[in-house]
Amino acid sequence: MNIKEDFPILKDGLVYLDNAATTQKPRMVIDAVKGFYEEDYATIHRGLYPLSVTATRHYEAAREKVAELIGVPSNNLIFTSGTTEAINLVAHGLVLKKGDEILLTPHEHHSNIVPWQEAAKKVGAKVIWCKLNGDLTLDVDDIKKKLTKKTRVLAITHVSNVLGTINPLEEIIPHAKEHDTFVLVDGAQAVPHMRVHARRLGCDAYAFSSHKMYGPTGIGALFLKDLSLVPLCTGGDMIDDVTQEGSVFAENEPRRFEAGTPNITGAIGFAAAIDYIEKIGYDVIHAHEEQLLRKTWKALEEQPRVHLLGPAPETHRRAGLITFTIEGAPPHDVAEILGRQNVCIRAGKHCAHPLHQYLKLDEGTNRVSFAFYNSEEDVNTLLGALQKVQEVFK
Ligand SMILES: *Cc1c(COP(=O)(O)O)cnc(C)c1O
Repeated sequence: MNIKEDFPILKDGLVYLDNAATTQKPRMVIDAVKGFYEEDYATIHRGLYPLSVTATRHYEAAREKVAELIGVPSNNLIFTSGTTEAINLVAHGLVLKKGDEILLTPHEHHSNIVPWQEAAKKVGAKVIWCKLNGDLTLDVDDIKKKLTKKTRVLAITHVSNVLGTINPLEEIIPHAKEHDTFVLVDGAQAVPHMRVHARRLGCDAYAFSSHKMYGPTGIGALFLKDLSLVPLCTGGDMIDDVTQEGSVFAENEPRRFEAGTPNITGAIGFAAAIDYIEKIGYDVIHAHEEQLLRKTWKALEEQPRVHLLGPAPETHRRAGLITFTIEGAPPHDVAEILGRQNVCIRAGKHCAHPLHQYLKLDEGTNRVSFAFYNSEEDVNTLLGALQKVQEVFK
């Protein structure tokens, strides 16, 4: 099985290892988008002519597919522009009040921090943070201690985009629900790599992005258990009626949160990306990425100047990404030198300033993140390039 052949951009030997930022697109997704524009494109939910009916059917079928992927009813699945918009929709849609506490973890991406800070500021709610253990995993006892009747929201990432750690939500969420806390899970780094069952997790909201799982940009999804939240965005298509005196919003339907003409083509491409993932199979994806992770971890662990962040894959469940620093080699220089050799890795703070602040890594770090199209050969190329970097910065 040569997966790389499915991805046009990878055909000339590009070693793409920045998959936690965004993933490349398989031919199947590109063709679905192109085919929709060429044959079925029209607006949805409005016209009565056959083309619009077909487009609507495709859009709603995409919603069903995304909902089914994470095991939730399609009526509770809202299309958004991505994880960031999904979290904003929840943070500003919940009616918070003065004195409410919002519990965050140092593993959060800025997308799961800033909207909460802003929502808290509006009403005088308070953002509080849990601690980490020595190996940088979440201190679950501290979370349990900080969950009280004042905790209105727990916003937590399923998989850290810096450490790759899979957080023990099965253990944490039931404690939050004991206090009637609203639980939002940021699934941007989970759904691309593993089977997620959002309803079984018991969360109130689950957000993720298409572009990190082989689909187009500009589309993502939010599972929302209770559809009575205040809509973040208002306008056409989200109303039942509008008069000069005021408007009546749609109730108990996802379109309540989808004002305006949505990203119809994006949804079609998103559905095709899910078809592609299901064709390969999560078992195959996970096993392959795990193998790449272990091989890379083991090789880097043996290099005295390389410092790896977080627990080893043997001791903690992880998704396929590794963040590290090389003594004496600034992260941006490392990424730039690798880039010149057609090896794409990330440098910086990965939209997680608080975690870098916690680790006192002001210069940032380097991150290598895998997708299932990466090969052992990619890993060898990476390791060779990192060797050369260390020679440059002797
Ligand atoms: C990428 C990412 C986001 C933001 O996703 P967008 O698609 O940019 O909205 C949020 N959380 C995590 C953990 C991420 O990796």
